[in-house]
Amino acid sequence: MADQRAELRRLLQQHKQQSAAVAPQPQVRVTDKLAKYDVNGQLNCIICKTAVADNGWQQHSVSSQHTNVSSQLSPSALLCLLPATTAVD
Ligand SMILES: [Zn+2]
Repeated sequence: MADQRAELRRLLQQHKQQSAAVAPQPQVRVTDKLAKYDVNGQLNCIICKTAVADNGWQQHSVSSQHTNVSSQLSPSALLCLLPATTAVD
């Protein structure tokens, strides 16, 4: 009985270690208001309507394409694109 418990404990320990080893690293998610993840987890720019690599957002946000599109958008158009975060009376 004691042997079984010890064996079980050993297996659990081993399982924990293996789980920890294969667990994916927590991804740094882009939190920019203009960035949006689709159902597949693909990062998209909502104003350029283009897919952007997670680690490429910084570069995209200063690209000529992005700055051109954002400068052409009026503030009200931009507000329509953004998800409502604050209720306005
Ligand atoms: Zn963009």
